[in-house]
Amino acid sequence: MEDCVFCKIVAGKIPCAKVYEDDFIISFLDIMPANRGHCLVLPKMHCETFLDIADKELENLVKVTKKIAKSLSLSIGNGSFNLVMNNGAAAGQVVNHAHLHIIPRFKGDRLRIKWSHKKYEDGEMEEIQQKIRKFM
Ligand code: AMP
Ligand code: ZN
Repeated sequence: MEDCVFCKIVAGKIPCAKVYEDDFIISFLDIMPANRGHCLVLPKMHCETFLDIADKELENLVKVTKKIAKSLSLSIGNGSFNLVMNNGAAAGQVVNHAHLHIIPRFKGDRLRIKWSHKKYEDGEMEEIQQKIRKFM
């Protein structure tokens, strides 16, 4: 897509610190990292969210993500990392080209990725469970 920053990176029109590339996937360092080594992994083909990624491509994406998480852990990391994917504006997605974040974690790094917890009202959990199951 013409005005997509990640498509521009894929096309080589914007530079990036590339850590992996094949015919379908690219991974590079996030320019504003949550921690040093924070990587982004994405399908080269433009699509907006997780739901738009074709199953075959998703398979590749997950495998490559594992490969990168492993090499991050063996190099600058220590085996602790968060896998994050923001889908949609309300979830904090800023770049509308589907991508996974791999964020290496270090003891005491003070990153706040954990959320606060809410509570279900009586019966609400079952109601929501049924609603979700209907669309499977
Ligand atoms: P999200 O909020 O999930 O859409 O994340 C978008 C991420 O893309 C942010 O963490 C940005 O720092 C990162 N980003 C934006 N532009 C670039 C770029 N040119 N090179 C590398 N990372 C970028
Ligand atoms: Zn794009």
